[in-house]
Amino acid sequence: MTYGEPVRTTARPRSPASTSSATTDRAVLGAAHGAVPGGVTVFDDEIPAVTNLDPDLLRALRRAATDAAADGVVFFVNGGWRSPQYQERLLHEAVAKYGSREGAARWVATPDTSAHVSGDAVDVGHAAAKAWLSAHGARYGLCQIYRNEPWHYELRPEAVDHGCPPMYPDPTHDPRMRR
Ligand SMILES: [Zn+2]
Repeated sequence: MTYGEPVRTTARPRSPASTSSATTDRAVLGAAHGAVPGGVTVFDDEIPAVTNLDPDLLRALRRAATDAAADGVVFFVNGGWRSPQYQERLLHEAVAKYGSREGAARWVATPDTSAHVSGDAVDVGHAAAKAWLSAHGARYGLCQIYRNEPWHYELRPEAVDHGCPPMYPDPTHDPRMRR
């Protein structure tokens, strides 16, 4: 993963509320930092958000997605690996949106604690993929971790034999977030 390279993808404005400076930052922190263009699936071989995921997590995702395809379900990736800078940017935006760092912490981790920055988490879409993983993910070691984030999955290899561990209500209950 390299950080200084020119970024090829252009940012898409996310909402009418985003300021011009935020749009500029988003353009700088593009795909090379983990931004995900629309329509990316777990089989993508070029987008760093996917290719920089932990290899075991990516393997499990692709095995599950291959089986899900038989049910007509596609695993889209809305978020995967992120650079620390990009995670910081998302946190910044969440603080603006939720009004405080405490409010933002229920949804967005810091660069130091985020499982996205370490490549150990993926945010899947659309609804059909979330439903499929909710029903069958444990068989592949793929577990929802937070009750408030039905799209966020991480690898828990022991889930294959024992099922997924109980979910945290939200990330503020996760001991990993209290470093
Ligand atoms: Zn996530």
